[in-house]
Amino acid sequence: MSAELVARPRRLRSSSAIREMLREVVLRPSDFMYPLFVVPGSGVKKPIDALEGQFHLSADEAAKMAADVFALGVKSIILFGLPAEKDPAGASGADPHGPVQSAIRAIKKAVPEMVVATDVCLCEYTDHGHCGILDGQTVDNDATLPHLARQALSHAQAGADMIAPSDMMDGRVGAIRSLLDQEGFSHIPIMAYSVKYAGAFYGPFRDAAGSAPQFGDRRSYQMDPARRREALIEVDLDIAEGADIVMVKPAGPYLDIIRDVREHCDMPLAAYQVSGEYAMIMAAARAGLMDEKAGALESLLSIKRAGADIIITYMAPKAAKWLRECS
Ligand SMILES: [Zn+2]
Repeated sequence: MSAELVARPRRLRSSSAIREMLREVVLRPSDFMYPLFVVPGSGVKKPIDALEGQFHLSADEAAKMAADVFALGVKSIILFGLPAEKDPAGASGADPHGPVQSAIRAIKKAVPEMVVATDVCLCEYTDHGHCGILDGQTVDNDATLPHLARQALSHAQAGADMIAPSDMMDGRVGAIRSLLDQEGFSHIPIMAYSVKYAGAFYGPFRDAAGSAPQFGDRRSYQMDPARRREALIEVDLDIAEGADIVMVKPAGPYLDIIRDVREHCDMPLAAYQVSGEYAMIMAAARAGLMDEKAGALESLLSIKRAGADIIITYMAPKAAKWLRECS
């Protein structure tokens, strides 16, 4: 007998009830924000090859999808648009009748309580696929800001509840805040993609959103994955410019960064479980290497445990269903 073995953490793992009692982190369907890809037209619900289980949706179908996920307890969505037209300046992003603006109106009519956030960026609307206006082969930061602000304003005018700039230009939160305030939308919050790392995990999304750059990559504006402290600089800048919610993206491979931001400030924090993270779980499940439900829920729990308040995830509807079955 070992007399000195006093601490026995296993005492508190002995039954399902005791484990549940001691859980510090609990996932809820309302933690999730569900991304939708909206396209022109009506009656369109087309599976996205690169993102298993996700669809390109016209405004009317997006409204139906929003109603379905709201019924599951997912109370926020974020819209990405695929326009009919692209040009060097991404002008179609601010079209009041563009796919995002149309989807906002349809969703708010069908499900008024749904929190409708919109991604603001130029890459889905520019013919070159970069997130800003080009000067030769480089993205011109300051020339891009008014275009982003105009796109954001068009979303607010269509009825969006929250504006989410993802472009990573310096000063864009301030530019958007200032135009929104000037035009009577001082009540609309900004969820800033404050900490967005460049990398390989966005592959499936670029196919889904038709936003792959035609040349080069995004490393001159998105962050270098080897820099940790820069995350806090970006967060502080966005807060100073008027961000209401800050975000870390991707989520799973960057849990240390989520924790850093959580400890650094008291702002609400979102984390984006990106397409590559989703694809890895789905592929592993399909190959019989991992249980899909257990793997997905563990990945989401870990993001919340790291400190995220909001998890943007393609798993949202499925995870909401699973959580309901468990409870
Ligand atoms: Zn972009």
